[in-house]
Amino acid sequence: MPATSLSSWTKEAESIETAKNLLYFRQLVGLKFDKKRLASLEGKTKAHYTRYLRSHGREDGASRGLFLLSVGTVGMAATYRQLLELYKARATKVVSRDFKFGGVPVNWGSWRQFAASTDDSAARKEIFDDFVRKSSVLAPLVQRRFEAYRALLSELGTDPLSVYLEHEGLSYERLTSMVENLGGLARAPFRESLRGYSSEIVGRPAEYYDDYYFFRNRVFRRYSERLPTKARPIPKIVKTLKQLGLDASRIAVDDADRKGKSASAFCSAIKVPTDVRISYRKANPLEDFSSVFHEFGHAIHFSSIDPRASFSDRYAVANGVAEIFSIFFEGLMHEKPFLTSELGLPEEVADDVLRRYRFNCLFFATFYAANSTLKLRYWHDGLAFDALDELYSDLTERFLGVRYPGAYWKLHHVMPDYILYSPSYLVAAVRALELRNALAARFGATYWRERGSGKALLELMRPGQSLDLSFSKLDEAAYVKSLSTDAA
Ligand SMILES: [Zn+2]
Repeated sequence: MPATSLSSWTKEAESIETAKNLLYFRQLVGLKFDKKRLASLEGKTKAHYTRYLRSHGREDGASRGLFLLSVGTVGMAATYRQLLELYKARATKVVSRDFKFGGVPVNWGSWRQFAASTDDSAARKEIFDDFVRKSSVLAPLVQRRFEAYRALLSELGTDPLSVYLEHEGLSYERLTSMVENLGGLARAPFRESLRGYSSEIVGRPAEYYDDYYFFRNRVFRRYSERLPTKARPIPKIVKTLKQLGLDASRIAVDDADRKGKSASAFCSAIKVPTDVRISYRKANPLEDFSSVFHEFGHAIHFSSIDPRASFSDRYAVANGVAEIFSIFFEGLMHEKPFLTSELGLPEEVADDVLRRYRFNCLFFATFYAANSTLKLRYWHDGLAFDALDELYSDLTERFLGVRYPGAYWKLHHVMPDYILYSPSYLVAAVRALELRNALAARFGATYWRERGSGKALLELMRPGQSLDLSFSKLDEAAYVKSLSTDAA
């Protein structure tokens, strides 16, 4: 394609992208959306990007990002129907006959809320086992999608893992050793911490049905009715961003409590950088702070990207990059001076909250080490889909010290939905800490009050995908160490 037709190709790609993003956003916030229009847009997407791949092939250099973006986009467009089928099956087939939440039967979407709301271990076990059994209806949908994706990428002369690794800028060896090491180092402090919290919360050693999502929420129940602060999540993060000299005024927030709206908060970059939206539903005070800060981290990142950056730099930001900023801003809640002087929490509450966050982070580290390894081995070793459950049981036993029923991974909200993704969370968590340490070293322990920090963040965010990652050594040992110390 000559330069002029490439620029018109890009213009058209962005207009399709924006229209599609808007429809997916409407679907996720529980608003009416036009399914026929979505089908037509996905069809257009596939044709449009395939046209690019045909004329450009596997180019190196500046347009390599566009190649990776196109391959991923064609793969998604070709399998989006199976993804919608998975969503539908999850909501309608993974439903309990015996238990209700909010007056209606517990289903996949309300499962975590139900688990966090009850102290009835037997009920949680029953639902867990029931849903693990019912995940068999999801299995063929997930398998078909993964295999279709693989076949399509093979036609394009590549494969899902290579595209992912190149996009993330990591080799397989580097990534797997990081994941293994991180999970291995986190295991012992996690086990110790788990012993303490399971004795506090369930009065016995933790079992498989006391999963990450149960503990993550339940551990903060003592603050669920009342957190002694007058601060509110949205005004607080907006004010913090302002102090940093970052402009949050373009970020729109949908906080309506609509039926059919996604229970977990999310950020959608509909048009980068001018239309970025956050969706959230009030849950409980600490979770609201964490999730609002996390999503504002995504939002300020996308809305700070240079409008003149290339199409792929704006729209193809790797997950291991995008999650840096969300985890970084969520991390403000893990800073003692932030909790005491910004939220006004009493010292002993702040210390207790911090200890509980550290436990959650250790749980996250070991759980995602298992999740990441499953996905990396599946694509790398060419494992049979049916072999994954057994491997998952082994991995949970190895990293968490608790053997899960292997099919559990299909009930997760990221594992069956995404081709890879999970390892990116760990990569980004390590990088977010490194970013925090770099800013604290330059601007002091209350770096969120310093304009200089904001300027450094903006410089990092502006280029989108082509950012300068030199602040990060990807030091997983330092990350685990930061979670293992009890010094507040
Ligand atoms: Zn995120």
